[in-house]
Amino acid sequence: MQAQAQLQAEAEPREGATAAEQRAAADAVAARAAAARELQRRQRQDPLQRERIAADGSLRVAPLTRAPPRPAVGAQEQPAVRPPGLAPAAPVAPPLPQERLEELVDMIAASRRVVVITGAGVSTESNIPDYRGPGGAYTTGFTPMTHSMFMKSADNRARYWYRSFCGWHEFAAARPNAAHDSLARLLRAGWVGEVVTQNVDRLHHKAGAPAERVLELHGTTHRVVCMACGHESCRHEVQAALAALNPGAAELVARIMAESDAPGRWRRALRAGTAGDARAVAPGGGGGGGGGGGDAAADAAADAAGGGEPLRRPDGDVELTPQASFAVPPCGACGGGPLKPAVTFFGDSVDPARKERAQELAAGCDLLLAVGTSLTVWSAFRLAKAAKDAGARLAIVCVGDTRADGLADWKAEALAGEVLARLAAHPRLLLPRV
Ligand SMILES: [Zn+2]
Repeated sequence: MQAQAQLQAEAEPREGATAAEQRAAADAVAARAAAARELQRRQRQDPLQRERIAADGSLRVAPLTRAPPRPAVGAQEQPAVRPPGLAPAAPVAPPLPQERLEELVDMIAASRRVVVITGAGVSTESNIPDYRGPGGAYTTGFTPMTHSMFMKSADNRARYWYRSFCGWHEFAAARPNAAHDSLARLLRAGWVGEVVTQNVDRLHHKAGAPAERVLELHGTTHRVVCMACGHESCRHEVQAALAALNPGAAELVARIMAESDAPGRWRRALRAGTAGDARAVAPGGGGGGGGGGGDAAADAAADAAGGGEPLRRPDGDVELTPQASFAVPPCGACGGGPLKPAVTFFGDSVDPARKERAQELAAGCDLLLAVGTSLTVWSAFRLAKAAKDAGARLAIVCVGDTRADGLADWKAEALAGEVLARLAAHPRLLLPRV
């Protein structure tokens, strides 16, 4: 991801670039995004491979010398059917056979301390789109804003905040699903010790998980931090300040929320910010595989913007009219620092204290259960590795391949909500652990 972020930053058109230069930069971003996806696919197959994206955007791949990875344990052949009521953003997977569930129950019941690591796949069932999953935004070439791009210019920050402002209402209104509810029950019953989440949506908290036992590895969109003095504020307050400063945008969002075509908004969210968008705008949640929502309502907002017709791409995608005039308030504490959501963007490093705590939890458990995460980002993969190195077992529930499939003791391609709900309701895990 680092390489992708760096190349993407390099491909940004400079101030005052001509239209042709901007198109060339957009093409370069598209080529590199495609290469990054290919690289990601290869890294999932072989976490130890060392291929990199070359300067021209091509992928230099040495022949694989290791044995091909064994097929995912529990890969099932029966066709998957989308159950009624399943959120459009969620992937589809067949139910986990009972005997496989019993294996997982055995592992949990036999463990002294279980740590669960969650990713975007846990929130897709709350209709928050995934970026890496099958059909996720990355499959369309979506590239999120990097930390350096965000810090580079006030214009970039204004663009980020405009989209984030538009998407916040819907993102903040997302409700926990069966996965969050069940995990909160397993935490309270003592079957799960801690949850480390890569998600920035606060849904574990909303489901009633004890806050001190949920570690938000990549931060949260519900807090905003000043990049100069470090002062933290509540996102709802910042949202109100943005609305006061930008009455036009606020009115637009209110109109969209009243019209409400949620499935359409999410469909657009999955396509929004595609590779042709050299401005590389970010999702409402920022980096780390979480977040989302910003693009959705923003595109809907653009759709509904009667007077200013949004740019439409040949494939029907909507491109936002640049909002150079979108005003972002400075920090209220120091009066001048730029405000950023308290999340880890791509190219940014994970907060050292959180990183260390996550490492301690992974190395101190005897079962690490990864749910709804491809463990693609290093900050998550290293936890799987730390757990294994310390002698713990690794179990994975994820639709699709993960970077740690080769390390897993147990793996199921199943939906997070289904598996966790069946775990929490299992007779052996129903009563609190003694
Ligand atoms: Zn400040």
